[in-house]
Amino acid sequence: MSISDSLYKDIILDHSENPRHFGELNPHDAHEMGVNPLCGDELELYLNFEGDKITNAMFKGKGCSISQASCSMMTDMIIGLTKKDALELLHKFKGMILEDKEPDFQDEFSDLEALNGVKKYPVRVKCAVLAWNTMEAMLKK
Ligand code: ZN
Repeated sequence: MSISDSLYKDIILDHSENPRHFGELNPHDAHEMGVNPLCGDELELYLNFEGDKITNAMFKGKGCSISQASCSMMTDMIIGLTKKDALELLHKFKGMILEDKEPDFQDEFSDLEALNGVKKYPVRVKCAVLAWNTMEAMLKK
């Protein structure tokens, strides 16, 4: 195992064991449920907005470590972003996982590369993108 592999495992483990922004956000401006029946992952995502900006994000639910870590990282990163920037980050993330594109994240988002390894496991890909698809549905409403 290379140094980066073990670093990436640590990032995923840290987020899945200590998920950031875990819980219900009340009051909230948007709420959406995401389900990945293949694995049994269930997420509920809550967002608050101020104009075009995401001012808070929280989630709850249960699922495998990949789905939890992905959602934890996502909520941590999208707070403070505009909807447009959040969607841009989403496209980069999905491009990496679903289209095998070279990761191209700004430094503050580079932890997302920890999830790059899941694309070798097609079953886990849906776990990694669940949170992001849920957010996409909310932002496009
Ligand atoms: Zn899963």
